[in-house]
Amino acid sequence: MLSVGDLRRFEPSVSSVELLGIAPASEHAAILTAFTRLPLAFASRHISKRSVMIRTERGTLTLHLTPPEQAGAAMVWHTGSSRHVAALRDRAHARGLHLFDARLADRQERDVPCASEDDLYDRLELPFIPPELRLGGDEIDTAEDHALPELVLERHIRGDLHTHTIWSDGRDSAETMVLAAKQLGYEFVAITDHSQRAWSSRKLALEDVPRQREEIETLRGRISGIEILHGVEVDIMRDGTLDFEDDVLAGFDIVLASLHDPCEQMGPQLTRRYLKAIRHPLVNVITHPANRSPARSEGFDIDFQALFAAAAETGTAMEIDGAPGHLDMDGAVARRAAAAGVTITIDSDCHRAEWLARQMRFGVGTARRGWIEPRHVLNAGGVDEVRAFVARKRSRG
Ligand SMILES: [Zn+2]
Ligand SMILES: [Zn+2]
Repeated sequence: MLSVGDLRRFEPSVSSVELLGIAPASEHAAILTAFTRLPLAFASRHISKRSVMIRTERGTLTLHLTPPEQAGAAMVWHTGSSRHVAALRDRAHARGLHLFDARLADRQERDVPCASEDDLYDRLELPFIPPELRLGGDEIDTAEDHALPELVLERHIRGDLHTHTIWSDGRDSAETMVLAAKQLGYEFVAITDHSQRAWSSRKLALEDVPRQREEIETLRGRISGIEILHGVEVDIMRDGTLDFEDDVLAGFDIVLASLHDPCEQMGPQLTRRYLKAIRHPLVNVITHPANRSPARSEGFDIDFQALFAAAAETGTAMEIDGAPGHLDMDGAVARRAAAAGVTITIDSDCHRAEWLARQMRFGVGTARRGWIEPRHVLNAGGVDEVRAFVARKRSRG
């Protein structure tokens, strides 16, 4: 069974989980009935002869079925978005084909076989379009010009630059986080706890900074095969200054800055706070800039274009944060950032070791929605590139 719908496109908020099963038509009725009898289903509704929805405690789950010879059409149809599919339908029509009801047919309503998505796009004289790009914007025109980006993949990510530990509001020790990062095959990981007055439940006190540095130094001696960066996620205060003094910040290997607490300020004031932080020579990455929370809040109404210009000019990266509570920058904003020449980081912002991989996957999915390529991404490079990126800005300061 394959995941389709919003989930496959990495939509920031997913209202319903949709699955696609491939089986001969003669088996569909029996499979749908068996699905409605799953122990987790407390209600069900047949949507069509090939689709059934069940209600579970944690939301709805829809199963669609397709015969193998139409699996490509069905995958595209059920993956959406509806605007993308509508554009493909028009394109099919112009070629004497019908894309409807999760099938491809000719004018005489005879099935045109398309077992894979490649087959379907091929019939429509297009290269394969990755699911994350299927938003019904300019992806079809770009595909027609053979100018689609080589999107970033999870395997391009060589390290995570944003993680939390028990030194602030994380659940696990630095050692556990580093070992988990190593397990994922990362070449480097940055430990970046919250600063002393941060908008978080627990924070890194000023006097803890040297103790944390010592602990990281010890871990470096004990754990081989991964570079540990001692970083910090420092809060941007009400007046745009940072929550640690410069001499403290200069002791970190990398400084992420974030604006967690808007202090009841509006867009223009928030933009000014960000710009001040971006121009600070010790700030390397702006984390989750909109501070949004999908399905709950769109986040700050800030002047992104001004932030991008300053970030590109000063050599400051902007983050795509993969925590499900952020997914920020979102795809559309990230695409504008990359177009403005801003260096991107894709991070987990993870607070527990077992979620490192999952949150990075969400980050990469969000980046792909933003047409992000490995060449845009700082942590798709090695640790030397990360260190050089930091050093370059410091030397200019
Ligand atoms: Zn944060
Ligand atoms: Zn964080």
